[in-house]
This record gives sequence, structure tokens and C-alpha cells, in this order.
Amino acid sequence: MTSPEWLESWSADDGAARVRTLFAEVFDGDGTPDGVWSAPGRVNLIGEHTDYNAGLALPVALPHRTYVALRSRTDDLVRLSSAQAPGQTWEARLADVAPGQTSGWGAYVAGVAWALRDAGHEVTGFDAVVDSCVPFGAGLSSSAALECAVAVALDAVHGLGRAADDAGRAELAAACVRAENEIAGAPTGGMDQAASLRCSAGHALLLDCRPGLSALDSATAVPFDPTGAGLALLVVDTRAEHALVDGQYAERRASCERAAEMLGVASLREISPDALEDALRRLGGAEDAEVLRRRVRHVVTEIARTEEFAARVRAGRVDEVGPLMTASHVSLRDDYEVSARELDLVVDAALAAGALGARMTGGGFGGSAIALVPVGEVDTVVTAVHEAFAAAGLPAPGFLLAPPSAPAA
Ligand code: ADP
Ligand code: MG
Repeated sequence: MTSPEWLESWSADDGAARVRTLFAEVFDGDGTPDGVWSAPGRVNLIGEHTDYNAGLALPVALPHRTYVALRSRTDDLVRLSSAQAPGQTWEARLADVAPGQTSGWGAYVAGVAWALRDAGHEVTGFDAVVDSCVPFGAGLSSSAALECAVAVALDAVHGLGRAADDAGRAELAAACVRAENEIAGAPTGGMDQAASLRCSAGHALLLDCRPGLSALDSATAVPFDPTGAGLALLVVDTRAEHALVDGQYAERRASCERAAEMLGVASLREISPDALEDALRRLGGAEDAEVLRRRVRHVVTEIARTEEFAARVRAGRVDEVGPLMTASHVSLRDDYEVSARELDLVVDAALAAGALGARMTGGGFGGSAIALVPVGEVDTVVTAVHEAFAAAGLPAPGFLLAPPSAPAA
């Protein structure tokens, strides 16, 4: 059998050297970039499918980052190349970038410039190249890493000054969300971009998704130091195909909205854990009431678990969050029904091999799972997961370690 594959992160120097070399190759003879910027992918510790229910999420930034070398232009042409899309240069005029008009991976990049312009900032065209060690399409948010690296690059070359403080970073995050939703056409909440721009090393970011909160009230840094507790956060990219994700996501959202309406609340956040049993009864005996009850139970208990996770971490009880992670997985698997065979396999194998807790992370149906593992047990857990995939006849997963890392810079 093959040995487990580790998905290593790059040092900042390595990442910068890669994009500087690529820039010289792609824009041969055109001089050097104005600079190099980078932004991390993210992984959510707990709080899944809660963002659109005005709930809580708790992401950390990965050490894995997307690097951008960028040079501003005086006209409004955007020329792009990516090591992850070799051989194809992407080109457009900023004036032509608009919802429904822009396709390809360049939409994630040009969309950021479009959104910053729309917010009133003077942004011109640019030449840029991209390289990344964030796993692609693995639910670790390579898309936000790309947008956020571009956002801090444009912030710097145009002297916008937004990246200098957290409130400004919240504005950049909003521009990146608009790029992803409106230009790239991917319907996502704001967790990924907030994590990439507003997390800090050694911290998780407690995101409160209630509408109308100020930027500062919507995100709080929570010290999170697994290493200090002798633990490691292990991420497993299952490489499972996300089949049917779009329709399933919309269906879950619609169920939550319907349940909230039936219960007479603006969002499921308003149902406290104490009021849950009563709320479930009030959903009545309609044809789909049993399904709605399960969806509501997930959302309400998940928000409570996220609060409890943050409280334990703040109290220095990092070694006591494992059961909350596993309970989150069970709830996502059985009540919210968004897990996948590969995700369940990671969780079961990791727990059996000594993980303190494990869960799927991200929207589900594929993507990645996480496990909190005593440092001395990491190799045992990795081998167990790797062997479980081989025994099930599944493609080998990828492994990475996720010490809470630094934001876009
Ligand atoms: P995830 O964010 O979970 O990795 P998404 O489907 O949201 O997955 O985003 C992946 C898409 O983002 C890719 O298909 C591509 O269009 C774009 N993308 C992300 N990183 C890069 C990159 N380094 N180079 C080119 N495109 C990228
Ligand atoms: Mg994404």
C-alpha cells in the first residue's frame, strides 16, 4: 500500500519566490511586480450550516496560502495567469466585468476589483500571477484565499488603507463576498472571506452571523492553541466528489426558512436550546414535519455547541472540546443529512485510533474532515484513516496539519 500523502504548506519565502518567477515568465520582459501578497485558506472548527440561520461559526486560518504577484496598470486591462490553470492566460477589461458577464477562474480575481470599484474605490487594471498550496475544491476555501490575496494586493497598490485594521478588513471581506456571489456566481456565506482576512495566528475567529451587527461585533478572536495542550488539528481532504451539492444546499436553506416562518421567528438563532422541545412540537404533523424537526434540531444544537466550544477554549480547556466536535458530526450526519461515506469513514477511523473528537467540516457531501489528536497519536490516526480508505477501495485522502495561522497580508 502507498504511504499517506501530506499536503505541506509553503514558507512565505518559497511562496513569494514561486510567484515572482512565474510573473517573470508570464509577463516576460515587462519588469517586476509591485509586490507579493498572500492569504490563507480556512477550516471551520465547529458551527456548520449555521451562518444562514444567523448563528455562529468558529473558523481558523490555515498555514496553507495563495500567493499573488501583482503589478498595477494605468489602463483597465486585467491579465492573469495561475500555476493551477497552466497554459491559459485570463484577460478582461474591468469595465466589462459584471454579474452574469464574467466566467472562468479570473472572475474570483477581477470580481474583487469590480466590488472595490463599486464601493467607491479607485481601482485600475493589473497584471497578476497566482500560485497556491491551498488544496483546490477541498472545502478549505481556495476561492476565498484567492479573493483575499487579491484584495490586500489592490488595497496596497492603490493605498486604500483598508487592510490596516479589522474594520477595514471587514470591508475588504465584504468586497470578496460580492466577487464570489455576484461575479463568480457561487452562493456562499461570508465565513470564508472573514476567516482569511480577520483570523490571527494562535486564534480562532468566533463569527456571529446575526444581520445588522457591526463588523467589530460580528467577529471575536478566541485564543486557540492546540499545540500548547499537546494536541494537533488534523485535516483530511477526502477527495470525494461533491455530488448534487448545489440543490442540497438550497434545499437545506429553504427548510430552515420555512421552519422559522412556521415558528414565527426571523431566524432559527432565536430558538434557545431550552425552547427546542417546544419548538419541535409546534412544527406539528405536516408531511415534511419530521424532516423539518431534524433540521431545526441540528441548527439549534449546533449553535449551542459552538458557544460551548468557544467557552471551553477560552477557559483553557482545549482538551475537552473533542466530544463537541463528534456530536457536531453526528448531528450533521443524522439530522442535517449532509455527510458522505468518506467523511463518516474519516471520523470513525480517527476516533477508533485515538482522536479526541472528529467531524466533517464545510458544507458537506464531500470535502474535508477534521480531527483533534494528541500529538503523539497523529501518525497512528493518519495511518488508520489511510488504511480505512484503501480497505474501502476509495482514492487515497490527503492530510495536513492546521495550527491556527496568520491572515491575508
Ligand atoms: P474551495 O474554495 O473549497 O477550494 P471552490 O469551488 O469554492 O472550492 O473554489 C475553487 C475555485 O476557485 C476553482 O475552481 C477556481 O476557479 C478558483 N481558484 C481557487 N484557487 C485558484 C488558483 N490558485 N488559481 C486559479 N483558480 C483558483
Ligand atoms: Mg470556496
